[in-house]
Amino acid sequence: MTTHNGNAQKLPDVKKVLGNPKITFVLGGPASGKGTQCAKLVEEFGYTHISTGDLFRAEVAKGSREGAMMKRIMNEGGLIPYQLTVQVLINALIANPSKNYLIDGFPRARDQAVYFEQVVGEAQSDLYFNTPLDVCVARCMERAKTSGRSDDTEETIKARLRTYEEQSKPVVEMYAKFGKVREVDGSHDTLTVWKATREAMLPQVSWIVGPKISGKT
Ligand code: AMP
Repeated sequence: MTTHNGNAQKLPDVKKVLGNPKITFVLGGPASGKGTQCAKLVEEFGYTHISTGDLFRAEVAKGSREGAMMKRIMNEGGLIPYQLTVQVLINALIANPSKNYLIDGFPRARDQAVYFEQVVGEAQSDLYFNTPLDVCVARCMERAKTSGRSDDTEETIKARLRTYEEQSKPVVEMYAKFGKVREVDGSHDTLTVWKATREAMLPQVSWIVGPKISGKT
C-alpha cells in the first residue's frame, strides 16, 4: 500500500492474521450516540470496540509529525486520508484479536469502505444512529464543556457535520442498498436509545453465547 505521503508501506496479510472475524461498522453524525451505545454493546455482548476517532487521538497524543497532521485535519473537521485511516485501523485490529468487532466511526467515506473490503473483507452489518443534526449540535456543545476535545468547538462542529452529510451519509445509503443497515433513532435519551440498539443488534448476536445474553433476555 501507499501512505498519504506516498511512502510505500507493506501491510501484513491481514485476512490471514485476523482469521475472518465478524465486523459491525457503527456510523452516525458527531455525538449521535455511537460511543455511548458501543460501550453498552461491549458490556452486554462482549464485542471488541475500536473507535477510529480514539485511535487518531492516541496518535496525536504521541506528538509525532503524523499526529500533528492528524490533529490539524481533525480540528478542521475533515477526514484523515483513507490509506492512513485503514492502516491505523488494521494495526488496532491486529493488536486486539477478536472474533467480533464493533468498528466505531468507520467507514466515513466510500474510499475507506472499498479499501477496507479489499484488504480485510466485508462487514456483517452497519449499525446506524440516525440522529437529527440539531440534536448532534446541541450534544456536541454540551460535551464541549467537559470533553477537552479540540474539535468540540462551534466552528469545527459545523465542519464535521458538513463532512458527515457530504461524505459519510452516502456510505450509509450504499450499505442500505445492500440491506446491511440496522438503523436506530438516536434522538432520545441514552436508555431509550439503548433499548432500540439492543433490539436492532439481537438478531445478529445469537452467535455470542454466554450467560449475559441468556440471563438478561
Ligand atoms: P470521532 O471521535 O469519531 O468524532 O472522530 C473525530 C475526528 O477524527 C473526525 O472528525 C475525523 O477528523 C477523524 N476521524 C475519525 N474517524 C475517521 C475515519 N474513519 N476517517 C477519517 N477521519 C476520521
